[in-house]
Amino acid sequence: MPNMKELVKGTDRYRHYINGEWVDSTIKEWIEVENPATQAVIASVPKGGADDADRSLVAARAAQPGWEALPPAARGQLLKDLARLILENRERLARIVVAEQGKPIHEARGEIEGAALYLTYAAEEARRITGDIIPSDVPDEQIWIQRVAHGVVIGLTAWNYPAALMCRKMGPALLAGNTIVIKSHEGTPISALEIAQLSSQLDFPPGVINVVSGTGEGIGAALVRHPIPRLITLTGSVRAGKEIFRAAAEDLKLLRLELGGKAPFVVAEDADIGAAVRAAVLSRFENCGQICICNERMYVHRRVADEFLEKFTRAVKALKVGDPTTLVDVGPKFSGMELDKVERMVEMARSTGAEVLTGGRRLTEGEFARGHWYEPTVMTVTDNQMRIMQDEVFGPVVPVMTVGDFDEGLRLANESNYGLSAYVFTKDMRRVMRLVRELKFGEIYVNRPGGDAVHAHHAGIRDSGIGGEDGKYGLDAYFQKKTIYVNYA
Ligand code: NAD
Repeated sequence: MPNMKELVKGTDRYRHYINGEWVDSTIKEWIEVENPATQAVIASVPKGGADDADRSLVAARAAQPGWEALPPAARGQLLKDLARLILENRERLARIVVAEQGKPIHEARGEIEGAALYLTYAAEEARRITGDIIPSDVPDEQIWIQRVAHGVVIGLTAWNYPAALMCRKMGPALLAGNTIVIKSHEGTPISALEIAQLSSQLDFPPGVINVVSGTGEGIGAALVRHPIPRLITLTGSVRAGKEIFRAAAEDLKLLRLELGGKAPFVVAEDADIGAAVRAAVLSRFENCGQICICNERMYVHRRVADEFLEKFTRAVKALKVGDPTTLVDVGPKFSGMELDKVERMVEMARSTGAEVLTGGRRLTEGEFARGHWYEPTVMTVTDNQMRIMQDEVFGPVVPVMTVGDFDEGLRLANESNYGLSAYVFTKDMRRVMRLVRELKFGEIYVNRPGGDAVHAHHAGIRDSGIGGEDGKYGLDAYFQKKTIYVNYA
């Protein structure tokens, strides 16, 4: 049987993982995977096509009834075993994530721990797959509602957390008795294939976990259009979410779409400024600003604006940018295209009135001669309709606007097509209570930096998507509810 990869001209060339085997694509084309910090090619993966999509889905369909027939605790045990193997391989996997994605090593270690946690959390739910028993209106009849699997699930993941996003989908999907085909982003496919390799050391029946590689418009679209899957779960861009929504309409597939964000960060006049500065820095510059819940735009009360901006700019200037294999604060942007986008957005903001307080340029000298680097950037703006206040930057750049009062901050925060997360710093409990109804976002962080809990619920509204992940509601999405009427007269 072929191995996971072979050495071709000095670099690893991976295969798809389908039906418990490492298989070549029927298309003889490969995608080169680049290290964002050095632009060195670190590996290549198959540029899969429709045939590969079909093979993986047929395998997943064949495996599904047997997988669902296992007791949930047995499925959960396998997920726990996989989580253990992931943790045993934490350092190796973290270094793969750094090499393919570019986040600093300490963050990558956290991502791998998070990946394992998604699996163990799902596994812990194995003994809580409950239903409802309902009295019938008819004598000698019993009604019950039982949760059963959908069948085959497709998981499409973004490049910013390739290992964690895979497990965030795989854990609950498999625990519920579905089988899965995972396709990671084409720029970050390696960690998913390596996790598939770890799963191959366990007793998962062949076809339960399948991992394929290729582009969104290639194998991704072929998976989505295929008649076998019942549920598609995407973490990615609004563009992809809308395309998939349209394609899935053809045969009414179920969708979970976890899309972009443009989180507002409101600082009231009664805020603890030191805490707000620390949270604003972390929530913007972690993973080089490439998190869907990142602080993307700030509204600071005029009475504290000078103090806040002075401390915030100082803290941003102190961030260490550099080689992500070392203990830096900020690594490279993920790709040249992403870097170009950030640069364009900053230039447009500047030309429409933004004042750059620090940063505002690419880094190209010395250790930054290769790779995709951008200086951590703070700017002030006065118009909430500027593109930099409305479009997702997904990079190390934050615009700050001064507001007259808390109500103005809330109003401007809500002026957005996005609705994923929001941040508010205030000590006034009456204001906190207002947020529940008045701030139109799915996840609100009060007096703390971002970071969602595995047992809570992560869900956006408007352009940020439909669906939601994590916790009991996230798990529930992977079940279909079936109602049984039994006449026992
Ligand atoms: P992307 O949409 O380009 O790609 C996401 C995945 O979808 C990839 O695997 C891609 O190959 C696939 N894909 C793209 N078009 C497709 C199509 N037409 N059919 C089938 N598959 C397709 O997104 P990205 O650039 O990888 O990710 C960045 C975005 O993800 C940002 O907007 C970010 O905010 C968002 N994101 C959201 C969350 C969340 O939980 N809401 C989490 C992380 C990232």
